[in-house]
Amino acid sequence: MANDSYDEAAEGQTLSARAPAPRRPAVLILVVEDEAALSMLLSYNLEAEGFSVERIERGDEADIRLTETIPDLVILDWMLPGVSGLEICRRIRARPATRTLPVIMLTARGEESERVRGLSMGADDYVVKPFSLPELMARVHALLRRARPDRTTGSLSAGDLDLDRQSWRVRRAGRELHMGPTEFRLLEHLMSKPGRVFSRSQLLDSVWGLSVEIDERTVDVHIGRLRKALLTVEGKDPIRTVRGAGYAFDETFGRGG
Ligand code: CA
Repeated sequence: MANDSYDEAAEGQTLSARAPAPRRPAVLILVVEDEAALSMLLSYNLEAEGFSVERIERGDEADIRLTETIPDLVILDWMLPGVSGLEICRRIRARPATRTLPVIMLTARGEESERVRGLSMGADDYVVKPFSLPELMARVHALLRRARPDRTTGSLSAGDLDLDRQSWRVRRAGRELHMGPTEFRLLEHLMSKPGRVFSRSQLLDSVWGLSVEIDERTVDVHIGRLRKALLTVEGKDPIRTVRGAGYAFDETFGRGG
């Protein structure tokens, strides 16, 4: 029951919707909603539009999840068990890594004062239940369009590797590589400063945003996944492991070295 009318809102997306896979890492939307039926309905419709969706019912779980993986957008219910949506929104804005993360708040409260409160806590948009699905979808697309240019645009290249920040595509020797959003951010971060060694905790700070609550081995796991993605195309490993120090993007990569 995906609604067709969202297409109007999506027309600004110039990438062909019919392009076959491979595509960029799917845009990940985190749906934090304790009403199971609504959460499933949202998830179904978002997935029908090509988004990846993760559903969480509790506020405290969402809070933890957001320190592990940063989605592209959060749909956040106001009233949640554990920690309220309003508080989660405040925390999202307080953390450097999620400061610009687009947030749409859902709420049954339609009073103007509540709306103002939600927006003052940093929600980008605010939808009052019951809402129309096409309207919500339009807002999702609009926010994603708005959010994307805020992330530095342009592309990074080294050797046969190209990372396009706008379309979230990584190509090697012209072939598109598949990787998750965390691996993409990791690569972008390393690639933006070739040769510079980043410690695990620096990477946690920059890519995940909260070094204190995550095991540093998480970085190794994602570096491993990133390497695997990079090496699906034959060639040199562009990531250097610097023993006892961390990781760097090899500045000699692509220079015949
Ligand atoms: Ca609720």
